[in-house]
Amino acid sequence: MFTLNFKVDQKFLASYAIANCERHRFVDNASDSARGEVADFQNLAWDLSKDLYKLIDGRELIGDFALTSNLPYQDIGTKLDEYFDELIRSKEFGIISKSTEDAVLKIEDEWNRNYGFCSEYIKSLGINLDGDFTAFLVHPALKAGRYLGDNKILWSYRTDWPNYNTVYIWHEMLHSYFDRGDGSHAIIELITDEELRFRLNKEKYPPFVGHDFLEKIKAKGLPTWKKYLENPDKDIKQLIKDFEEYSPA
Ligand SMILES: [Zn+2]
Repeated sequence: MFTLNFKVDQKFLASYAIANCERHRFVDNASDSARGEVADFQNLAWDLSKDLYKLIDGRELIGDFALTSNLPYQDIGTKLDEYFDELIRSKEFGIISKSTEDAVLKIEDEWNRNYGFCSEYIKSLGINLDGDFTAFLVHPALKAGRYLGDNKILWSYRTDWPNYNTVYIWHEMLHSYFDRGDGSHAIIELITDEELRFRLNKEKYPPFVGHDFLEKIKAKGLPTWKKYLENPDKDIKQLIKDFEEYSPA
């Protein structure tokens, strides 16, 4: 058994918005007003301190910053804390925070609606997820989706196709269960991006969605995967072994 909580962490929300200011980091179908409120926050953060902004978005190295600012490292931490505190008190942050909290409600609604169906399906594959998971939500105008480790997931609300959030949150959670190899990643995609999407939306595969670099492995492993779905005696470890052979070393 596992639990999943959706959470907005204020400093994480602020730092993610700061670190993702380039145009391609915005969701394609985000509205102008949603983009605008993130840009307003980014502009405020930039105006408040260009140095700390660049430190957070990775353009400035911490060693360079310590040298040029003449600050001991522990004071850099204090400076960052003060910077975030001031940002979080701003009207601009209040606006992006509200939009993110609204998105949490929509995601919880979608997740709970699909939960019974999806968890039965995952269990039927011989997979038992365990532990307490937390999905950290960031602003819905920004692209975000990654397994951070330690049962923590980065996510933002998406409407690219129906049940998109459900399919990909399962994908990210399964990263906690599988190793990091390409073969395992291809299995995760077949389980979620492809088969779960098919079961929820009746969209056939192939054509595949998901990462281009996994497409060859998925195509090679497709007959094995289809057989696995029908096998009453499922052994996920064997499936992983099979897929290791389909992925180039
Ligand atoms: Zn993945």
